Parts: sequence; C-alpha cells; structure tokens
Amino acid sequence: MQTALADFIRNSAAGAEADAILRSCVHCGFCLPACPTYQLLGDELDSPRGRIYLMKQLLEGEPVSTHTQLHLDRCLGCRACESGCPSGVRYGRLLDLGRTLTAARVARAPLAAAKRYLLRKIVPHAGRARALLLAARAARPLLPKSLRGQLPRLPPRVPAAALRWPAPRHARRVVLLEGCVQPILGAVINPAAARVLDRLGISALQVRGAGCCGAVAQHLAAEADTLRQLRRNIDALWSAVEAGVEAIIETSSACTAMLGEYGHLLRDDPRYAARAARVSALARDLSAVLAAEVPALTAALQRSQGAPPDAATAATKVAFQAPCSLQHALKATGVVEPLLRAAGYALTAVNDGQRCCGSAGTYSILQPELSQRLLESKVRALEAGAPQLIATANIGCLHHIRGATALPVRHWVELIDERLARG
Ligand code: SF4
Ligand code: SF4
Repeated sequence: MQTALADFIRNSAAGAEADAILRSCVHCGFCLPACPTYQLLGDELDSPRGRIYLMKQLLEGEPVSTHTQLHLDRCLGCRACESGCPSGVRYGRLLDLGRTLTAARVARAPLAAAKRYLLRKIVPHAGRARALLLAARAARPLLPKSLRGQLPRLPPRVPAAALRWPAPRHARRVVLLEGCVQPILGAVINPAAARVLDRLGISALQVRGAGCCGAVAQHLAAEADTLRQLRRNIDALWSAVEAGVEAIIETSSACTAMLGEYGHLLRDDPRYAARAARVSALARDLSAVLAAEVPALTAALQRSQGAPPDAATAATKVAFQAPCSLQHALKATGVVEPLLRAAGYALTAVNDGQRCCGSAGTYSILQPELSQRLLESKVRALEAGAPQLIATANIGCLHHIRGATALPVRHWVELIDERLARG
C-alpha cells in the first residue's frame, strides 16, 4: 500500500512504525472472514482492512471524526486478523497507535469519557476494584437492570488449602506475576499454578510492588498510564531478574502477551529500554512452561494416581476455550489441550474455536451489545459437545463466559493441579 504520512507524524518513531505496517498491507481481504465484528456487522469499516484504511487516513492528516473513533472502538483487538493475514501485517500494533492518535484528536462525550476514565483508574488497581465490586454488589438491587447484568459475580468462597502457595525450595525459579483482577475473580488460579510448578521442580516466586500488566490502560488508549505501569512492574521485577529467574510467568494469556510487548513499548526510554527488553525476553505463558516439562508432568501425574488416569478423571469432559491472546498474540494454539489430555481429561470439540468470546479487556463493558452476541455464540459452541466443565486460559474470558453458562468455568491449570493433588 502506498502511503504519504502527514507532517505531524512523518519523522517520528511512531510514524515510521505505522508507515511500515501500512505498507505491508496489500488489501487482499484474506483477513475479513476471520474478523468477528465483520462477521456480525457486515460493514467493511468494521473489518481489519476497513480499519487499516481509516488509520491510513488518520496518519495522512485527513479529518478524523467520531466515525473513525466508532469503528476503532468496535474492534476487539483480538488479532484474529493477524492469524489470517498472509502478509504478516501487525494489525494490533497499528490499532494501538491509531487509537492513541484518535484519542488525542477526537473528544468523547462527557459520560463516555468518564466511564473510560473510571475503568482505567479502578480496574488495574486490585484494592479499588475489590472495593468497587463489593459496593456494587451491595447496591445491586438499586441499579438499573442493564447494569446489574454486567456486575461480576462474587467468586465462591475457597478453602484455605486452595490458596496454599509453596515456599521456594528448588534451584529452578520463575516469577509468577499475580495480575490485578485475577486474585479477586480467580483467587485459586495463581496458587494452583505455583503448586503445579513446585511439583515439577520449579519454585514460583511472588514479587512485591507489581500490579496490572498495563493491558487495561493500553486498550483504553491511555499511553501515559500504560508506560507508568510497565516501569513500575519492571522495578518490582528487577531484583528477581538479576537473581537469575528463568522466566516471568502470568497465568492469564492476555497479560503474558502484554509482558512480551514491554521491550517494544519502552524501546525509546533510555532508562528502561534494556530492562524492558530483558523482561519481554523472559516472559512466558504458563502453558509454554508446562509444555516444555511434559516428561516431568507425565511422571508426576503417574505418581499421583498411577497410569492410566482413574475413571472419574477420564470421564470428565472438558470444553477448552482458547483465548484470542493465546492463539493470535502468543501463537500458542494447541499447547494447552495436550496437557489436559495428559492429565486424563476428555476434550470435546468446539466449533469456530478461533472466534473471540467478546470479553476483550474492557470491551464487554464498553460494547455490551456486540460483546453479548459473541458471548452467546461462544457459549453455544462450547456447550455443543455436552462437556461437564469449561476450561480457559485467561481471567477475562473465564469471568465473561461464567456469566452465560450454568457449567463450571475454570482455568486449565486448576484441573492439572487437582489431578496432581490426588496423589
Ligand atoms: S491485513 Fe493482511 S489479509 Fe488483511 S487486507 Fe491487509 S494484507 Fe490482506
Ligand atoms: S482485531 Fe479482531 S475485531 Fe479487530 S479487526 Fe482484527 S479480527 Fe477484527
């Protein structure tokens, strides 16, 4: 694609990056069938190709309006288009740039702006998010029906044993970053991951002072907040990195994908560039770490119960929902499923598995109608094989799907942990 970037961006690093991405798109349209919003709305401007065209106009200095903003807002950021693109167009990065530039040039209505401001000031902060959740649950009967449906369910009480985090005892060590909303909405997930790793001879360290990976602020085009959160996390991680941990892990695939972006996002920061690159180089999704430990995992599973797995586990039918961040950002399609099979679970078929569930960070709150339509079709696909439970790899998807099904929805590592704990 030919481009002629406007003066305001032509000679900047962001301009050079955007230009290279735009030029890599050949307008073939192969990405269109992969795009959930194009499938739902049938409008070229709600497709990757149409949005690329809108962002080209923006970067070439043409007038930008709420029209551009609307079509960029409707994008899930799921990056399914990247998986469908034969030219390797880095659509997700272009979207981040396009949203940031649009936010600087198009004002939002006061109510919409306030909603986004509150989301970015509350969701990434565990204490504030917990307080808001409790207050909102208490006030639930007074809220309008449309808002009541969006309130997160309070997670079930969990026994103390489920929160047990093994003390470090192995030479092999990783940092397990706990995230922001995950300890509130899925408190058992990180301890379960730490226990599984411990059984495989890897100690999972917690670090003080880290928080949200920065993805929430980035989705909301709040660049300064994003970079502040990245720098804070790097500071919190640094002594563990210097001590030689072999990886930095998150159990939420979207957060792992964000960690992988630190080096790129801070590449022009002289104080943080090198450390950010190091953090990104160490970022691993939990599934990738366990996939490299299959012999040890298989041995631990056999020790736990003997092989083959017991009838109760083998009979448990699980539908696995592969989050977009796992498939399209981390390119880790088909990594979790063999681990669940190794633990003796029977996986059911899930049609259209590459399609987003509609959670997508804050999308379910900011675009509730589209999000709900995607959720309904995702739950139908997951339930079609009559599973007894649904497993996923991302706290946002887990919480979103939980709101639309009577089946238990859990992180896949909880299932491995349970299987190992039977021994
Ligand atoms: S993003 Fe890729 S698939 Fe889509 S139109 Fe451009 S080159 Fe073709
Ligand atoms: S990120 Fe997802 S919703 Fe956005 S254009 Fe790409 S496929 Fe469509």
